Amino acid sequence: SSAITKSTKIVLNLESLGSLPADEAGPLARYASTIQAQRHDYNGKVLSIRTEDLKSLAIIYDMSPDELTTRLIEWGVLSPGADGSIYADVD
Ligand code: C2E
Ligand code: C2E
Ligand code: C2E
Repeated sequence: SSAITKSTKIVLNLESLGSLPADEAGPLARYASTIQAQRHDYNGKVLSIRTEDLKSLAIIYDMSPDELTTRLIEWGVLSPGADGSIYADVD
């Protein structure tokens, strides 16, 4: 299932994010950059974010969290969780 729950682990692929067109990925890229700056976490290839942050991003993109998750998988920013390390619905 792709349903977002409190126990869903959301790990963004920053390399994929960086290669997307800015007009679509811009808000997400700015959000991720802000979190990196707040954490002083600049060197990662991936960034774990809060479930609450995905809900905020869904509002920014005018989608439901599940619709945004599907879009992020299409963009290659999230992987549908085969091994659970990148994206997984663990409920
Ligand atoms: P904060 O929310 O007051 O969190 C203070 C510190 O608690 C964080 O410092 C981190 O060491 C720890 N912390 C809080 N929640 C979690 C968590 O779910 N997992 C882990 N591993 N640690 C947690 P840090 O990382 O230096 O972040 C400083 C501030 O930057 C945070 O203060 C928060 O205001 C913001 N921030 C950092 N990452 C995120 C994020 O992913 N989402 C949001 N919304 N804010 C973030
Ligand atoms: P790593 O940094 O060597 O961390 C290995 C494992 O230690 C993590 O596996 C996690 O189980 C635990 N761990 C490390 N830091 C924290 C933390 O702040 N909170 C909690 N609860 N556990 C922590 P995980 O989560 O599967 O991550 C695998 C690797 O993915 C990490 O190896 C790191 O290289 C990368 N990674 C994941 N999230 C981030 C991120 O937000 N920023 C960066 N720079 N790297 C990340
Ligand atoms: P969550 O809020 O959905 O956060 C998911 C993951 O995003 C965290 O996994 C951590 O890798 C990253 N993250 C979120 N906020 C921060 C932050 O402020 N700083 C840093 N460095 N990383 C952050 P993690 O650490 O395994 O935590 C799993 C869940 O445990 C979190 O899910 C949250 O529900 C809870 N949690 C962990 N630490 C705290 C905390 O300090 N305060 C609160 N209120 N909840 C926490």
